[in-house]
Amino acid sequence: MTERGWRLDTPVEVLNGVGPALSRGLHRLGIATIGDLLNHYPRRWEDYSATKKIAALKPGLVTLKAEVLGVQARRSFKRKLTVSEAILGDDSGTVRAVWFNQPYIATQLKEGQSYFFSGKFEFKNNHLSIQNPSFEPADDQSSVSSKILPIYPENAQINSRLLRKLIAQVIRLTDRLKDGLPDHIAREQGYESHARAIAQLHQPSSMRELELAQDRLAFSELFMLSVSGLALRRELEAETSVAIPFKLETVNAFLDQLSFHLTSAQKRAAWTVFKDIERTSPMNRLIEGDVGSGKTMVAVLAAAMAAQAGVQTAIMVPTEILARQHFKSIERYLRPLGVKVDLLVGALARKERVAAQQRLAAGETQVVIGTQALIGDTTQFHRLGLVVVDEQHRFGVAQRRALRAKADIMPHLLSMTATPIPRSLALVIYGDLDVSIINELPPGRQPIQTKLVDPSHRAKVYGEIDKQITQGRQVYVVCPAISASDHSGRKSVEIEYDKLRKGQFVHRRIGMLHGRMKAEEKESVMADFASGKLDMLIATSVIEVGVDVPNATVMMIEGADRFGLAALHQLRGRVGRGEHQSFCYLVSESEHDEALNRLRSLERTNDGFRLAQIDLELRGPGEVYGVKQHGLDLRLSGIVDPELIKRARAAAESFLATEKVVEYPLIAARVEELKSVTSLD
Ligand code: ADP
Ligand code: MG
Repeated sequence: MTERGWRLDTPVEVLNGVGPALSRGLHRLGIATIGDLLNHYPRRWEDYSATKKIAALKPGLVTLKAEVLGVQARRSFKRKLTVSEAILGDDSGTVRAVWFNQPYIATQLKEGQSYFFSGKFEFKNNHLSIQNPSFEPADDQSSVSSKILPIYPENAQINSRLLRKLIAQVIRLTDRLKDGLPDHIAREQGYESHARAIAQLHQPSSMRELELAQDRLAFSELFMLSVSGLALRRELEAETSVAIPFKLETVNAFLDQLSFHLTSAQKRAAWTVFKDIERTSPMNRLIEGDVGSGKTMVAVLAAAMAAQAGVQTAIMVPTEILARQHFKSIERYLRPLGVKVDLLVGALARKERVAAQQRLAAGETQVVIGTQALIGDTTQFHRLGLVVVDEQHRFGVAQRRALRAKADIMPHLLSMTATPIPRSLALVIYGDLDVSIINELPPGRQPIQTKLVDPSHRAKVYGEIDKQITQGRQVYVVCPAISASDHSGRKSVEIEYDKLRKGQFVHRRIGMLHGRMKAEEKESVMADFASGKLDMLIATSVIEVGVDVPNATVMMIEGADRFGLAALHQLRGRVGRGEHQSFCYLVSESEHDEALNRLRSLERTNDGFRLAQIDLELRGPGEVYGVKQHGLDLRLSGIVDPELIKRARAAAESFLATEKVVEYPLIAARVEELKSVTSLD
């Protein structure tokens, strides 16, 4: 096939230089066709357009073009590291570059060749040197005029340099790429074509042009998503739910038996929910609130209201442990009001389960708490009017939809999450959801003291733990793996359990908990821990979600660098739930500054929203919010820019008000696609 015949769906194997090995590497990156290649967006860019002479370098981030005069790798025994060093020179002088724990650098840099380097120029160990610079061969520049070089998601076979060369062969085909943003809206917003934006990603002509291009692509994504969300919301509003009237007596009876007052944020959220469910158009609300902010109360109040109106409530939670805990506490709150609460989880003995299902189907049960067993084939409801999904980020959309589909008429839906998504972003991601935020913790909570611990200081932590146990407190130790064979180098529950039980804590009562244990075993271990029969629980992150044991005051996390900030914050939220000062110890095996800095942000703040923001900046929204399933293309940084989100939503609203979606096939297709993903009905 000649170059002229190439199309977007032409396989990449026609390109110059793509043999069987590269072909496999490309496929592993998800690149099969020329179109895939053009849609392989860079992760970031390196700006080599403003290089400095060595003699003129000042401390800080620097970019230079220099020749490698010498390069070597050595081991530093004191710090257990490999150090790679290179001497770089240009016509103004020489400078040292240093890389830690990257032994392969010495084989990648060729003496006598010129490269662009970009890194931090600073004092370390009494020398000024460039720390961990990235680099690009300077001779490559002849083929590509741009000095702003895209860095792509790579793998062992395929690096960015190669991708740049391949993309240069097909860059003119960007003209055939289209997105759904109508031309007239792009023009109104001052954007050029989609094709030009994609070309700029791969071969930026300036940083300014690149920013505009990213903006254009992010805007288009946000616009499409907003149109879909708004369209779905309209459809939902046309459905009918049972109106659940507000009764002040119910609220009062409920509040009277509590030993505490609701926070104003809880009251606000509950009030909004009452307003929602009073109407016949289905509620579709997400409550976001930090760990321990008391989201359950809001759900229970809504359930009490539903029960008094004669409709059932189903509360779905992600784990069995959590279901049982919720069942206990919710039943304690609701029984005095005469509300019948029941539990439905997979691990119930068959006879018990069948009995629970019968009570539910007969309408005897007013509030049922359960796991996925709630959406099982054999489960039937009776006037299901309210669905609550706790820790909703743990559930797939399909599961939420299945639960809702169990009702004869569309139930109201209340979702709750501790994953703090900025409100503006939540509005786009969950286009058809209303969002309430509980931004306040119950009073009197002492902030948890968090410490990053070097593995060599583990013994000291054990000492602190032992003191706590002596004072009658309880302790969690979380490990990233279940057994030693899982992954090399990770601390495992089984090994630590054995070690601590026979060693340091031989005089203490220790239990273990992980996902491979039988349901009854898990349950009895958790019950023992909750009732104080165990001093220490060694567990995987199965305890991350929701577990509530107020007497536990220490959370020790092994291999902390292997968890995201949000997960660590959730784990930490298992302590600090009672009156006692609580502690969180993060043990990290990683020596990478980046990983350690990330963990230090947990030392500095207990605020989940703040941590989410930090995580967002460090790892990007895809990792943090796990929102890939919502169809949002998160490769573009602008996607979380509140100003851009607002502009896109406004454009989407006026588009829907004046135009017909069916006349825009790409938008219509996207709405259909998103409907199957985000729709909760
Ligand atoms: P989360 O938002 O993480 O789901 P929970 O609903 O589990 O939080 O509540 C955490 C703990 O705080 C529970 O033990 C609950 O009884 C308690 N709690 C809830 N609201 C209040 C309040 N207003 N004052 C004091 N304690 C509260
Ligand atoms: Mg909760």
